[in-house]
Amino acid sequence: MASQSLYRKWRSQTFDELIGQEHVVQTLRNAIVEGRVAHAYLFTGPRGVGKTSMARLLAKAVNCIEPDPAARPCGHCHACTSIAEGRAVDVIEMDAASHTSVDDARELIERVQFRPAEMRFKVYVIDETHMLSTAAFNALLKTLEEPPDHAIFILATTEAHKVPATILSRCQRFTFTRHSVAATSAHLRQIAASENLNLDIGAPEAIARAATGSMRDALGVLEQLASFGQGSITLEQVHSLLGMTAAAEVDALIEALLDDNVCTALRAVNGVADQGADIRQFTRDLVERLRALMLLRATSDPSLLDVGEDELRMLEGWAQRADTVALVAWIKLFSGLDFQLRTTPYGHLPLELTVVEALVGPATREQGTGNGGQTTGSRRTTAVPAAPTRTAPPVRAAPTLVRDEPTPLIIVPEVSPALVAPPAPEAPAPEAPAAPEDASTSHAPTVDQEAFIAANADFTVLERIESLWDDIKRDVRPRSPMLQALLKDVRPVDVEGNTIVLLASSGFHKSNLEKPQNIKIVEDVINKLLGEVFALRCTSESKSETRDLRGQIREARKDELVRAAMNIFEAHIVDIEPEA
Ligand SMILES: [Zn+2]
Repeated sequence: MASQSLYRKWRSQTFDELIGQEHVVQTLRNAIVEGRVAHAYLFTGPRGVGKTSMARLLAKAVNCIEPDPAARPCGHCHACTSIAEGRAVDVIEMDAASHTSVDDARELIERVQFRPAEMRFKVYVIDETHMLSTAAFNALLKTLEEPPDHAIFILATTEAHKVPATILSRCQRFTFTRHSVAATSAHLRQIAASENLNLDIGAPEAIARAATGSMRDALGVLEQLASFGQGSITLEQVHSLLGMTAAAEVDALIEALLDDNVCTALRAVNGVADQGADIRQFTRDLVERLRALMLLRATSDPSLLDVGEDELRMLEGWAQRADTVALVAWIKLFSGLDFQLRTTPYGHLPLELTVVEALVGPATREQGTGNGGQTTGSRRTTAVPAAPTRTAPPVRAAPTLVRDEPTPLIIVPEVSPALVAPPAPEAPAPEAPAAPEDASTSHAPTVDQEAFIAANADFTVLERIESLWDDIKRDVRPRSPMLQALLKDVRPVDVEGNTIVLLASSGFHKSNLEKPQNIKIVEDVINKLLGEVFALRCTSESKSETRDLRGQIREARKDELVRAAMNIFEAHIVDIEPEA
């Protein structure tokens, strides 16, 4: 691609080519046709939405020599081309941000009294008008009070409130709006086609969304992507350039919600966490998407949505499967998460809980009971509340949750106050008496409760470290980028009391990580994030995680339904027994 910036190359040469701002185009066209062009215009609006492009079009239109006024600017007469190329002496473009010196701007403005050299009108385009000096404003005001017939001023600004009222009152004012995602993505697609660039489905929308309504920003991103792709731009490239949360994971999560599939849903969440993406942003994107789906589902009116073609097609597919009531409930659930995600020390855990809550619902709901032959697993897990409240009576009507995944689990939230350790690691575990006998648990505990309590406490810490692992890596970076890179091949696998076990992918990684200065940095970061003191131990040998009891507890804790039960009842696992 040529070095010329795409934004300049694709700057609209005629009113027809201009994207968006239809209300402005219409009014200006009418003024040209009817010969009622004002002497001063004020274009306001955010950056990159076409204010200066429009100003140039207007400068061309008033000077174009095309006989039919309705066809002005024609884009190819002498006036049009010289203005487009920036060599028309009668069109003076000033950037007030860089011409704030009194004389410069004032002098230029005062020279408006001289007649145009070769065109009908002398046109002043003053960008960032609010930055003009007081002297320049005074010169401008004096000119606008009695403008020469041959002069037109087009003032552009992002901050109209900073322009003196005396100036404002003499201008015809137009407000420019942000480009919609649909308009921006359509334009990107069109340019990509002309530039022989292949864009992944969803890529134009992703760029458009990130550009938040600025066509200039959107084209800047497209140009950057084009410069390192070989004629083809993938969605991943867009995401990595823009540091966006994975839109694909948002879609995967919505698919899973619609399919009522907890497992896939949690996988999507963990996929995002693994990528080190911002979980809050991901959740906001999810809510935004669910909202679009709800609007479409409830109204069947795509005009309510600001989405591109590809997205709309996908949303329409989902809308056929979606239930409006469920959508409303999900939006309420997920939109309530923002604050929690900001304050939680548990990484993406609140999002996981909400996903489970959205699908499994309150703890009393039965799952998978319609699925007969699912007892293929080999053990079941019993969980009891960790911190029972003093006044609440034991939950007698113990709900039984049976899940239809390979490992059926029976979770009995039988209250047994002194049985297990509270979740906080610093609180000492009370002496554990034998679990009370209950009709729904016709088995006695098969292992030492204390081992369970200790393992649970360790794994609570481990899960916290796992959820913070990306933050840990991020915080290591400023102290040692090399170490951060090394940590990509390292992960926490166990906690033994106050020692965290890190698994390195090779002996090489292990010995590097074990260097005292490296261990020190990682320990510092972890201890700072967790607010506790831990030591580190490295290993490069992955032991089978399911062989021993700790491994079984660890595995059981990974089960989303067990997690949901543990969270809802604030319970720990106290027993795992072989399936009868
Ligand atoms: Zn022309």
